[in-house]
Amino acid sequence: MADIIQLLPDHVANQIAAGEVVQRPASVVKELLENAIDANSDTIKLIIKDAGKTLVQVIDNGKGMSNTDARLSFERHATSKIRNAEDLFQLHTKGFRGEALASIAAIAHVELKTKQDQEDVGTCLIIEGSNVVSQEVVVTPTGTSVSVKNLFFNIPARRNFLKSDTVELRHVIDEFHRVALAHPSISFALYNNGSETFNLPVSNYRQRIVNIFGNKTNEKLVPVEEDTEVLKISGFVGKPEFAKKTRGEQYFFVNNRFIKSAYLNHAIASAFEGLLKNGTHASYFLNLTVDPQTIDINIHPTKTEIKFDDEHTLYALLRSAVKHSLGQFNIAPVLDFERDPNLDTPYSYKQADTDVPKVEVDRSFNPFQEEKVSKSSGGGTSTYKREPASSWEGLYVGLESKGNQTERDFTEVQFESEEQTGTFFEDDQIDQTNTTYQLHNKYIVSTIKSGMLVIDQHRAHQRILYEDFLKNLTIKEAASQQLLFPLQLHFSPQDIAIINQLKDDLEHTGFVFSSVKDESVDITGVPIGVPESEVSIILEQLISDVENEVPDTHFSATDLLAKSMAKSLAIKTGQSLQSDEQEHLVNKLFACKEPNVSPTNRTTFITMSVDELDKKFI
Ligand code: ADP
Ligand code: MG
Repeated sequence: MADIIQLLPDHVANQIAAGEVVQRPASVVKELLENAIDANSDTIKLIIKDAGKTLVQVIDNGKGMSNTDARLSFERHATSKIRNAEDLFQLHTKGFRGEALASIAAIAHVELKTKQDQEDVGTCLIIEGSNVVSQEVVVTPTGTSVSVKNLFFNIPARRNFLKSDTVELRHVIDEFHRVALAHPSISFALYNNGSETFNLPVSNYRQRIVNIFGNKTNEKLVPVEEDTEVLKISGFVGKPEFAKKTRGEQYFFVNNRFIKSAYLNHAIASAFEGLLKNGTHASYFLNLTVDPQTIDINIHPTKTEIKFDDEHTLYALLRSAVKHSLGQFNIAPVLDFERDPNLDTPYSYKQADTDVPKVEVDRSFNPFQEEKVSKSSGGGTSTYKREPASSWEGLYVGLESKGNQTERDFTEVQFESEEQTGTFFEDDQIDQTNTTYQLHNKYIVSTIKSGMLVIDQHRAHQRILYEDFLKNLTIKEAASQQLLFPLQLHFSPQDIAIINQLKDDLEHTGFVFSSVKDESVDITGVPIGVPESEVSIILEQLISDVENEVPDTHFSATDLLAKSMAKSLAIKTGQSLQSDEQEHLVNKLFACKEPNVSPTNRTTFITMSVDELDKKFI
């Protein structure tokens, strides 16, 4: 019988192979951007027309190619990046297969212009469907420009499979984000149909994230750093309260290469366990650096999957690093009543009680002294110190001994809106347990004489903390606690500008800055009662509050700081409270000057009279 096996002609083989590498315009974007990075460029421009269906062009200022290399680069398995099989295990470049340009040229119209630095002129090469149409000498800047036009012009079936421009552009932008996030030290720009969509200057990682995802992102990021022998982790996770319903902003980079890993994703998810609302996903931007010998990136043609030698260790390290960061920034449950007291911060009430000087100021200077408020919050303890929410027990200082006092204050509290003159709470219900009930870990419901009271726990606690902070800051103006070691915090230049603008006011509240540099500040002192672990989050919150604040003439840094700190430290919706904690919150709220509203003027509680209830039952 006759032999039937034939070798496929090159152009057919190339088209088949192209299918592996190029699925859509975004694949071309990825390959061209990666080549530009491998060429040591520091400025890269991406130009897109019709979501890349008509044109994908990448212009770089990298090392360029010689005439011969320009021609060779389009041959299959032509690469300058590896020489032998061993090199596969020492990869420091994105590319190594030498297939991308050959594949792209098989299914599109490609124009390459390239010049090396030491040359006066460069090369222009035009290839259409694997055929070299021309190669000429041109005047062109150092670096390389590759234009890919009319993708899949010779494979109509593939072209028809492309999705709408909106969908394809989304893929292109995703790819652009991934590459740009992995390389903050390279400046990137994206032009879509003639208009500039992104312009990302060289920056630090945090700023790159912010430049891509918007200024608001800054306040959402918690740094993660871990350096071990097998793995270096750096980057950010999103604060749990900003978790999204979609999995959008989840990025792992291994040795600067974007990868997908369900397994490592699980490590992050488990670090966030208990912190996220159902159905939401934490965002993360994490760079893992490992010895190239311990990974195999060769298992997937488009290289977004990767095999690690020791996945279990990576999993454990990643999980614990993220957990640690969340804890350090006090994002892990702020109130954990059942925790081991040995794990308390040094600022917990028990220790503070022995450490804090008994009397720091003459109480007669207390501007709140005339107010009823001071009786309940100041009467019990002159040592009373604003405790962070994480040591909520602090709020109980002296509670027992001043029980009667509280009761008296309390029975005097009345609603302005209430007509009747009776007492607010049923006398016999005060100091009894179970007078309050927590609804959906969000509201505290209590009985009042006229009917029912419903308190928003988060807003109420903000009010309580705000007044306490304000009082503390006003009384102990410039009182500061010295840090054992200076704290260095990194910020974007924009944030530093805000800190500079607020510096004097911040120093009045107790912050001590030993230096403010372009992208970092050194802090040697913080306001009394603010734990070191909170400082970064408080400043970030403050910065974002200032950014969002409509500037007004009564702007007061103290007030803003108190608001900001209250916001950062208040118990959150979703936090379950035991009945004595609920009652204490109620007591503290009604001992406030303005219990009705949160520091940002939102209603803290509502009431419903028995009459109103009765009407509902008609
Ligand atoms: P790979 O990146 O896997 O080596 P490619 O087909 O993407 O394969 O590129 C082939 C070769 O062409 C590269 O190895 C490199 O030498 C050269 N090359 C491609 N793009 C550029 C560029 N933008 N600047 C300089 N050289 C490039
Ligand atoms: Mg390549």
